[in-house]
Amino acid sequence: VFELDCTILTDKKVLDASGHTAKFCDKMMTSKDGLDFVRADHILEDWIEHRLEAPGVNAALAQELNDVLARIDDMSLPELDAALRKYFVPKPAAAAAAAAAPGAKKDKKADAAAAAAAAAAPAKVPVYDDEWQPAKDFNLMFGTGIGPSGNSPGFLRPETAQGMFVNFKRLLDYAGGKLPFGAAQIGKAFRNEINPQQGLLRVREFWLAEVEFFVHPNRSEHDRFDRIADVEVRLFGRERQLGDRKYDVVTIREAVARGIIRSQTLAYFMARTWLFLASVGASKQYMRFRQHLPNEMAHYARDCWDAELLTSYGWIEVVGHADRAAYDLNAHQDASGHKLDVYESWQQADWKPYDAVAAKLNKGAIGKAFKQQAQELISALEKLGKDDAVALEAKLAADGKAPFGGVELTRDMASFAIEKAFHKGETVQPAVIEPAFGIGRIMYCVFEHSFRQRAVEKETEKRNYLSLPVSVAPVKFSVLPLKPSQASHRDVAERVENLLVANGISCKVDGVNETIGRRYARTDEIGIPFGITIDDDTVDKAHADFDSVTLRDRDSMQQVRVKLAELEKVVDSIIKQRMAWSDVVNTLKLPIWEAK
Ligand code: AMP
Repeated sequence: VFELDCTILTDKKVLDASGHTAKFCDKMMTSKDGLDFVRADHILEDWIEHRLEAPGVNAALAQELNDVLARIDDMSLPELDAALRKYFVPKPAAAAAAAAAPGAKKDKKADAAAAAAAAAAPAKVPVYDDEWQPAKDFNLMFGTGIGPSGNSPGFLRPETAQGMFVNFKRLLDYAGGKLPFGAAQIGKAFRNEINPQQGLLRVREFWLAEVEFFVHPNRSEHDRFDRIADVEVRLFGRERQLGDRKYDVVTIREAVARGIIRSQTLAYFMARTWLFLASVGASKQYMRFRQHLPNEMAHYARDCWDAELLTSYGWIEVVGHADRAAYDLNAHQDASGHKLDVYESWQQADWKPYDAVAAKLNKGAIGKAFKQQAQELISALEKLGKDDAVALEAKLAADGKAPFGGVELTRDMASFAIEKAFHKGETVQPAVIEPAFGIGRIMYCVFEHSFRQRAVEKETEKRNYLSLPVSVAPVKFSVLPLKPSQASHRDVAERVENLLVANGISCKVDGVNETIGRRYARTDEIGIPFGITIDDDTVDKAHADFDSVTLRDRDSMQQVRVKLAELEKVVDSIIKQRMAWSDVVNTLKLPIWEAK
């Protein structure tokens, strides 16, 4: 997999070819006065969820509402519009006023349950005027004019993928002309979201990390599949979503064998994503893969599975996995007129025999006889298919002459034989498997999944801490002189800081004159996994633990004493994750230290 860094500004021609100018849209609803805009699918979802919670919902209605909920992402514009009108929740005040008005007509739009829902609508349920313009497609790309005249239209890229497709030929060269290979890119993407909200979860400018993995279109195997085949994942396939809404908890091997995931390569990347998310701090119990419903898929995709994490906002899509088939390369090939394909040579054992026509032509005789027409005749004779060549040869052999292309050929001008030949390879347009990671979303979810609280002795309020894995914690160690006012404590703290910095390990010295408990709490809160404390034992020869510091684990709050001379080795082992905390304690037999 090769890393690329392509341009953000993208010529319109590229995005015309990829289909983004025509189809990269969300469904939007606009208020009658044209001042309010909402994602039509989101507001319908909110309304239905609200109606499910409202009083007066019988089992049949609940079933109906749940069915609609499961299908929202799959709805076409007219279907969505019809559902919006059917399940509309009017503004509570307006509904109450309308109901109270003398001679008020029966509300045709809302049934009794809807009226009850409206009256009980809490402030957080989005409400809307009861009239709006029909839902329509809204293109999410930010347009701009490129160059001083501004006449060359372009866009800020809505995904990093297109840069990798238009560089396909270079990537192929780099890969030695052989499939499979991949390209990866991390960079900013821009989408003019209709309702950006929920912090990092929906923003108009965000970090995207994408892999485009090019594979043979008819081969779905991945040569490293066995390495991840036993990873167990939670799958929420299409049929399940529209049926019993249960999960399949299966190994990746089983998911492919049962056809739940259609290709080994797609499954391989999904497993890698699962392991990655767990390694950066997402809880497996709040992780799932949800398959897109047919109409939900982006215009370029053949199959899609989103890695989703459960948060206080509900299930959030953090990584998309799309089987884009040959859509993009095909589209760019058509638009540019440049071939974006791969010639694959086969092993000799796989060569495919065929009957080839060997034509022997006496070009001199043909030229002499047919003058200007000769060249046309020669190229037609050279292109003869097997059956025509056999028939012409038979006629020439039998009669010494044969009609061809409006003239009469004679035996001396041409003869044909059928010989064995081999197809030794083929030209294919690669299919593409694409995992796309939304960095901001992953970070937000990891923060939620890492958030913990614990009770602390003598304190009424629980303390918060962030249990970030060592690999992603931005600061790995805090360095804490117990008595910051004492020069000897500060000196050792500085030595420890220098040692960490020299080893490329991030650290934060907290020399504020506060209780050590407060300082630990502060470093725990920002997720620093380990603390090194310099105390009287460190600096005072008279103490048994002279020349050692304490090393504290954020999650267990356990401390051990480490000789200063050993510190570099211990720290290095932890950081390179050769050692978990329990190993630090057990293997290195470091003495547990209890604060006196
Ligand atoms: P997509 O190309 O739509 O599958 O998006 C790929 C990934 O980008 C998603 O899984 C999200 O994690 C992330 N993403 C998409 N849109 C946004 C957005 N507006 N704000 C933040 N992250 C986003």
